[in-house]
Amino acid sequence: MPSVDHSELKEFDLRSVRLDELTWPEIREAAGRDVPVIVPVGSTEQHGYHLPLCTDVVLPESLGREAARMLGLLVAPPIAYGYRSRPLSGGGEGFPGTISLSGRTLIALVEDVLAALAQSGFRRLVVLNWHFENSNFVYEAAWCANERLAAQGLRIMVVEAAFSELSEPVMQTLFGDEFPGWDVEHAAVLETSLMQHLRPDLVLIDRAVDDEARRHPPYDVVPPPAEFIPESGTLWKATRASAEKGAIAWEEIVSRVAAAISAEFELVSPGAPFQPRAASPAGEAVAAR
Ligand code: MN
Repeated sequence: MPSVDHSELKEFDLRSVRLDELTWPEIREAAGRDVPVIVPVGSTEQHGYHLPLCTDVVLPESLGREAARMLGLLVAPPIAYGYRSRPLSGGGEGFPGTISLSGRTLIALVEDVLAALAQSGFRRLVVLNWHFENSNFVYEAAWCANERLAAQGLRIMVVEAAFSELSEPVMQTLFGDEFPGWDVEHAAVLETSLMQHLRPDLVLIDRAVDDEARRHPPYDVVPPPAEFIPESGTLWKATRASAEKGAIAWEEIVSRVAAAISAEFELVSPGAPFQPRAASPAGEAVAAR
């Protein structure tokens, strides 16, 4: 893939990192300049007594926008529905408000979005997933989109988990010596802290609880046994969350995702430090370069 010519991009200001806030001639120009596009993928899923159903959408969308501001990319409208909530990693399907897709629907949806972006002329795409259960399905979607458009030189980066490797200091800050595993980090310390940092208006922190499944074996069972599902929908200790922890973890997650995208698409020389661009007060309309 050709790498971005920075001298040229300096002259090119995106009015917004949100693809859907631009006009079609602007999109044509951005595609012509080979600007990468991030597609956030989440879920509409219960997140305990205290977090909104949109938690898994807010997080990858915010992450995508911050990375886009740093690197001069675009972010497509997020995919707000995800694969079936599983009891051992999301609490399961039984909670009011959880709206899930079958695997085949999710694959088809993500594949169609990727293919449409490619038809618009974009060649470098990033699937940025947050909802644990979407893994593999988003990879399959990328695979099928590429197969469908094989002649068009696509390069699709599939980020199935944005935060699987955090530094030891950040892990200590979040969990101390009691890290329970990422599968139960659902509506618990990290997600709650991040939402307190990013969208405190959506967090009912006085309703946060510590909870866990009575049984959490290393395999799953269908239909889901009741003892796999904590009553609250929180899979671990949400009361340990704080906005401060969220800010610390967020900074690292953003910089790692941005670094990964940058390296994958050769947006800056490998190992170069990032110089975040100033975001606008509203956070949306930016001069990205
Ligand atoms: Mn989820």
